[in-house]
Amino acid sequence: MTETFKKITVVGTGTLGFQIALLASNSGYDVTIFDQKPGAFDEMMAKQQADIKAKQIEPFIPLDRWHVCSQRIKQVSELDQAVKDADLVIEAVPENLELKCEVFRQLGELTPPETVLATNSSSIPVSHLEKSSGRPERCLNLHFYMALHGMNMTDVMGGTRTLPEVIERGVRWVRSLGCIPLRVKKELLGFCFNRVWRAVKREVLYMWANDYVDFRDVDRAWMKFTGNEDRYGPFGLMDSVGLDVIYDIEMVYYRNSKDPKDHPPEALKQKVDRGELGVKTGRGFYTYPDPEYLRDDFLSTKE
Ligand code: NAD
Repeated sequence: MTETFKKITVVGTGTLGFQIALLASNSGYDVTIFDQKPGAFDEMMAKQQADIKAKQIEPFIPLDRWHVCSQRIKQVSELDQAVKDADLVIEAVPENLELKCEVFRQLGELTPPETVLATNSSSIPVSHLEKSSGRPERCLNLHFYMALHGMNMTDVMGGTRTLPEVIERGVRWVRSLGCIPLRVKKELLGFCFNRVWRAVKREVLYMWANDYVDFRDVDRAWMKFTGNEDRYGPFGLMDSVGLDVIYDIEMVYYRNSKDPKDHPPEALKQKVDRGELGVKTGRGFYTYPDPEYLRDDFLSTKE
């Protein structure tokens, strides 16, 4: 059976990188992290603990284990030191093609030739990054969803020349973290579930921006339809992801298709420009920390 990875480095420990590092540590891997912003990991841990408590959701890893897991993670302040003997490096820096190409270029130079390089990008296929690394056969997409918040599933997709054994190791590693691997057999923008989520997002943003419906009613309907009554619908979820991230991702789809129907609405851009980025700034579609969808009367039939 193909060996999986042992030493893991996560580059960029914001919303997603933090979760990947914690998941890997929880499963007993030797984890090192690097973020260009000192203290990013600890800041994110405090933020996500508060977020999970506020949403009253069952965390994937019990909150009392977070401290133990985080203590085992090595925080390193220089990229070369952080990646020098890694079996797998996952980058989770912001969704920007040039930045990710530059990170892949650095990783190609700084890691041993057998190190596998993965991107957690939500929308960029690794085929756009692999060349910068100089080792396309060892590059793949490992796209995590919000595992610590209950969405423990991960897209696994190769680039133009990824070796089958690299994909296999990726799949096994993802399973070992307690996440469901979603294999994407050939390159597809948006991977497996993001593609479904994206179709929902595009439609509901269109309905909101053109004033056909109140966004709260969309969320109410979604919560009923999915049985997800104690959480949120598409607008609450977009707030949780961050409206700036949502906008950037929609722009990637638009640039790819050049179809005007894929362009995110101007009203979304205006929200981002006003700093209404969702949970992280206290206002998005809803206001936080007490969004309407968590109130008892959100799904009430009473006037
Ligand atoms: P984020 O802004 O929360 O975190 C990014 C982190 O990267 C920050 O801590 C920042 O300081 C750090 N950083 C920036 N440039 C860096 C560099 N050159 N080297 C090292 N660190 C650097 O972003 P995020 O939401 O975690 O998104 C990261 C990636 O994960 C993106 O590609 C995004 O598409 C993807 N993703 C995000 C979500 C989500 O729900 N937010 C879900 C799945 C995948």
